[in-house]
Amino acid sequence: MKKILILAISCSFLWSCSSSKKKTKKVAKPIVKKATKAKEPVAKKDKTKHQVHWGYTGAHGPSHWGAIKPEFATCKDGKAQSPVNLTWHKPEKGGTLKFGYIPTRYSIVDNGHAIQVDFPEGQKAMIHGHEYQLLQVHFHAVSEHTIGGKSYPAEAHFVHKNKEGGLAVVGVMIIEGEKNEFIDQLWGKIPSKKHQKLMDDKTPFNPMALLPSIKTHYHYKGSLTTPPCTEGVMWYVLNTPISMSQMQLAYFNTYYTKTNRPVQPLNNRKAINY
Ligand SMILES: [Zn+2]
Repeated sequence: MKKILILAISCSFLWSCSSSKKKTKKVAKPIVKKATKAKEPVAKKDKTKHQVHWGYTGAHGPSHWGAIKPEFATCKDGKAQSPVNLTWHKPEKGGTLKFGYIPTRYSIVDNGHAIQVDFPEGQKAMIHGHEYQLLQVHFHAVSEHTIGGKSYPAEAHFVHKNKEGGLAVVGVMIIEGEKNEFIDQLWGKIPSKKHQKLMDDKTPFNPMALLPSIKTHYHYKGSLTTPPCTEGVMWYVLNTPISMSQMQLAYFNTYYTKTNRPVQPLNNRKAINY
């Protein structure tokens, strides 16, 4: 316990150091392999992504999303929105998460709001007894969910879909600590231009590399945390974080820093621990 506390304190200390360092924009790249220019222009432009302008600051920030266009109304009118602050309760029985991810090809894109890694079919997860396919993993900085009022340097969202089209998102907190041996592979392939997709067929990536070994979690029913803020999304936020090194987080922060929607009221919801 003491050890965890010390780690948490030193992490938050280092984190504030890295944030201030970031402003100098001189972050050394932790990347071993850099994508070659020749590989990059596999661009597949998705025009829909440029139609509506929303962001995380100013007149297009989260408090204005609901007014940007009628389709975003749920962002302001919804009563079961995400993210939320999570508080620990005595765990209930059952409610297991089983991940059957395997090494796979993938593509990576800076979609203008996040760095997103898309996976082809075949990445299965059994979530509370129901089968889902992993569609993509993307990252927010700082974390969107807070746990006991505490936010984390980053949060990964594993977006899954089932056969009926239902969405289940697994949230994984990221702290500053040990280097993640696998993340450099992804960070090294982020295309230099937004909306450009880079497909990697040669070096498979196993999404398991971004999950902690302990799978206890909070579960609640919420929404997409970005417009159109659609509700009916099943959330599973793991309470055990994964870590990345100061350099790995700082590198990610050269792309995105404040991409977290503020926590939303729980209203009459309650997150259950498993
Ligand atoms: Zn997300």
